[in-house]
Amino acid sequence: EKCAEPAVLPLNEASDIKRVVAVMSGKGGVGKSSVSALLAVALARRGHQVGILDADITGPSIPKLFGVIDRPEQFNKFILPARTITGIRMMSLNLLLPREDDPVIWRGPILSGAVKQFWTDVAWGKLDYLIVDMPPGTGDVPLTVMQSLPLDGLLVVSSPQDLSMMVVRKAIKMARLINVPILGLVENMSYLLCPHCGEKVYLFGSSHVGEAAQKNNLPLLAVLPIDPNLTELGDAGLIENYNGPSMQNIEPLVEVLEKT
Ligand code: ADP
Repeated sequence: EKCAEPAVLPLNEASDIKRVVAVMSGKGGVGKSSVSALLAVALARRGHQVGILDADITGPSIPKLFGVIDRPEQFNKFILPARTITGIRMMSLNLLLPREDDPVIWRGPILSGAVKQFWTDVAWGKLDYLIVDMPPGTGDVPLTVMQSLPLDGLLVVSSPQDLSMMVVRKAIKMARLINVPILGLVENMSYLLCPHCGEKVYLFGSSHVGEAAQKNNLPLLAVLPIDPNLTELGDAGLIENYNGPSMQNIEPLVEVLEKT
């Protein structure tokens, strides 16, 4: 915190990006990447030009969710983003590794450097939204990434049993440091819909996310159920075909983004 503040990086001349929204979480496995992907799909379905910058570089799952395996091509001094079936533009370290399952064992500064290059060296073209899937946690790497990109807003994703007040407070602190608003919280895997009667089953007990939102004066923008269909489509690389309750419940969040 005593170091000089890293400057926000300028955007290259091959990109014109209207809004940059980062998706963060206190820890891994809460569905941050899935929420980033669903959000991108929902925005694209509403006619927006959308890109996803996969900054979750130690466990990149964005290409897998969309079934993208093409290596990005070079065009002059730029890297061209990969494209999903429906035309969402994507950049991920996973697309550049020799093999998809190669582990990334780089240290923090190198990781941050790679993410910065996804901003400075990728020809994103014209985008209405760039969704940044952040590395999990509230440590140095996510902070550096956040400081390097000109973010318009932050979303915090959590599962019902994961969200501690501490995570929200840390997120708020980070947001203040970089002077970016937290748009709100997203609760994922909140409940299971009984396939027989449709009743909501709260597998993890009652949630504290709503309370955390209220206490910190932040809106709870979406509450998404566990949907085995979403897991299956994600595993098959077909998240763009998803049309279940988690997609419906993300609509209020899409509307908030359309107003920012
Ligand atoms: P994170 O990015 O936080 O590490 P992921 O988005 O990779 O988490 O999700 C972890 C796993 O949980 C994945 O297999 C994903 O398909 C699954 N998953 C996430 N959200 C849901 C949901 N709402 N319903 C069903 N499965 C989900």
